[in-house]
Amino acid sequence: MAAKNKAVGGKKKAAKAKARKGPVKKAAGPAAGANPKRVATILAGLDAAYPDADCELKHENAFQLLIATILSAQCTDVRVNQVTAELYKKYKKPEDFAYASPAELEKEIRPTGFFRNKTKSIMGASKALVEKFGGVVPRTMEEILTLPGVARKTGNVVLGTAYGIPSGIVVDTHVMRLSQRLDLTRNTDPKKIEQDLMKVIPQDRWIKFSHQLIWHGRRVCAARKPKCAACNLESICYSKDKTV
Ligand code: SF4
Repeated sequence: MAAKNKAVGGKKKAAKAKARKGPVKKAAGPAAGANPKRVATILAGLDAAYPDADCELKHENAFQLLIATILSAQCTDVRVNQVTAELYKKYKKPEDFAYASPAELEKEIRPTGFFRNKTKSIMGASKALVEKFGGVVPRTMEEILTLPGVARKTGNVVLGTAYGIPSGIVVDTHVMRLSQRLDLTRNTDPKKIEQDLMKVIPQDRWIKFSHQLIWHGRRVCAARKPKCAACNLESICYSKDKTV
């Protein structure tokens, strides 16, 4: 009897835990706007508007780009470039960051925000580069993701821009917003958005597409008041955020 009561109690607990968690979310279905013909029109429009789109974080090598990308979280590229211009004069290689004074580094990167966490990530990633990768930024996503503080977005930026390796699609705040407005995804989670985009954008366009979408987000399709009248994708865009 005691065993039966225990089992009933266990079931009740499990049911309560399930109720607390809420219903299991189903993955969003494919976006209607992601048919190949429409995607080709979007890519052509982006090519026409931004033929030279590139990464706006200044860097001379993969390591500098890695550091700049870590610093760019919740910060503008302009501010990051101001900070790294000074930073790279003092810290030239992974060893310099790995064994830096955390207090000094925090002070130096403070203008980029979240400076304590960023210091930990920069020092941790630099140490791992020195200890596991001979001081060289690895060329695979699998390896790059082992660096502390480095997630897929940073991995894609570094592999794509510094090495020309199309490992995936950078999903930052602009890519997230624009791929939703252009109905290329119905997801809100960056990992799922990246998977959706990778299915519909040809792999040889992954690197450029990320840069072009980021440029479009910065110059035209801003979060607030997008300049739809000046947008060359206006005729195929049916976003509820449109201003024309
Ligand atoms: S029409 Fe407006 S909302 Fe649509 S992509 Fe262009 S700027 Fe963005």
